[in-house]
Amino acid sequence: MRKLLQGLRQFQDSHFPKRQELFERLANDQKPIVLFITCSDSRIIPSLITQTDVGDIFTIRNVGNIIPPYGSSNGGEGAAIEYAIQALGIDQVIVCGHSNCGAMKGLLKIDYLEEEMPLVYEWLKHAESTRRLVKDNYQHCGGEDLLGITTAENVLTQIDNLQTYPIVHSRSRQGSLKIYGWIYDIESGEVLAYDSESHAFLPIHNLSLSEYQSAFQATSPLPIACQVSAPIAKSEAPNHTPWLSTSQSERILRGSNGSNNSN
Ligand SMILES: [Zn+2]
Repeated sequence: MRKLLQGLRQFQDSHFPKRQELFERLANDQKPIVLFITCSDSRIIPSLITQTDVGDIFTIRNVGNIIPPYGSSNGGEGAAIEYAIQALGIDQVIVCGHSNCGAMKGLLKIDYLEEEMPLVYEWLKHAESTRRLVKDNYQHCGGEDLLGITTAENVLTQIDNLQTYPIVHSRSRQGSLKIYGWIYDIESGEVLAYDSESHAFLPIHNLSLSEYQSAFQATSPLPIACQVSAPIAKSEAPNHTPWLSTSQSERILRGSNGSNNSN
């Protein structure tokens, strides 16, 4: 608590006076530019990784960045979605998973959770479609690969769930709401975004806004769709090691293709 109190004092003495005009402007109104849905994990700070300001991001956070399907839960997620879109006029939504997610690890050990953390177990039932899809289609993967795949597939599952909300369904059909799927890699700071053309998560680093908007809008994700880190040309590759290696991602893609063929 001492750390928090020191920080609070520093905020009031130093940071607040410098930005007082902004805080006064925000006191009676907010006009956030995006609804950002992510995990409760302490390592994910949306305004830090996107370098946005106070008032820019309307946030929903919970264990596993989960959106319970419409009508399945009386939690606050539905209310926050409706308020963000209807009252605040937000027209872009990001569902952001992350590397090394404890909720996704739990989803892969669901029997253990039922015994040890029954409330988390109950909550993760909203990600049962993710668990089932991964179990049925990625038997050839394990360890870190499987965790990455589960994280990626869960982002897509939750985008599907998001689209069960009447206001999201309606605005998406109008073309006035854009939904994006992201995965944030804690170690490298890299963000991968879902590309509905290639059904892959690709690095978005160094793309212009128009390139990003044309490439990464995830309006209708396929159920099986993961190449977590695409093989990219060497000249375009980020300086750090990609989250998953090329050989790993090719293995994932083969799994996806095989499953699609059987559909
Ligand atoms: Zn998490």
